[in-house]
Amino acid sequence: MKVQALEKKKDFLTLSIAGASPGFINALRRIILSEVPTMAIDVVEFKKNNTGLYDEIIAHRLGLLVLKTDLKHYNLPEECSCGGVGCAKCQVRLTLKANKQGFVYASQLQSSDPKIVPVHEKTPIVKLLPGQELELEAVATLGRGKTHAKWQPGHVYFRERVSIKTKHCDEEKSKQLVEVCPAKVFAFKQGKLSIKNPDNCLLCNACVEKTGCVEITPTGEYLFFLESWGQLKPVEILERASYELDLKLNSLLTLLKQATS
Ligand code: SF4
Ligand SMILES: [Zn+2]
Repeated sequence: MKVQALEKKKDFLTLSIAGASPGFINALRRIILSEVPTMAIDVVEFKKNNTGLYDEIIAHRLGLLVLKTDLKHYNLPEECSCGGVGCAKCQVRLTLKANKQGFVYASQLQSSDPKIVPVHEKTPIVKLLPGQELELEAVATLGRGKTHAKWQPGHVYFRERVSIKTKHCDEEKSKQLVEVCPAKVFAFKQGKLSIKNPDNCLLCNACVEKTGCVEITPTGEYLFFLESWGQLKPVEILERASYELDLKLNSLLTLLKQATS
């Protein structure tokens, strides 16, 4: 297998993966979505709330806040030495007190761990009118996307890389190519057709059907796109996904041994 980073940003990573089956890459994708833990608010206790939103709606909004996640120092509640009762190793407490007119933002939450705070400070929670107050205590825990989407670490997808070749495209067809391609793969400048963004190809086949002067061939290599919501860095997500996949394969081996011994 060959892996190459094509684009690396703070919250975004594009890889080219060669020598792996779509099944394997899809397993990695699904592990990222369902097994990589992140921190999210799971319980909210309201002390005061006379705002225009019900407790349930505010609790739901709080659950969806993106929280910085520290996988080294926190355990999943079900794997914690406290047995899931709740302790400093598996829970973070966040409190909120607001009584000023205007928006209440995520940044107003006070966390018991300064490392576990909302990533997007300006996420609005509720808008207070004069005389309205909100006071609550929330508990954030690690969880997995398979339990609730609020614990998913990001957006991930992949597609096959293709080789695009043009042959005998006259001026009219070249202009048509630029027009029909939704991914802006082609450019036509000064009477010359060029393929400027082949990796943008969505495999819609419009260029082939409309002009007949393009050939699109699969390469067997895959483009793997991972966008983190911000709880973890993309590389951390992939590292943890590999670890989770490894755990699953090891437990399968153990079960196989037990079943066949
Ligand atoms: S298959 Fe679709 S996306 Fe790909 S180059 Fe052709 S028109 Fe563009
Ligand atoms: Zn615990």
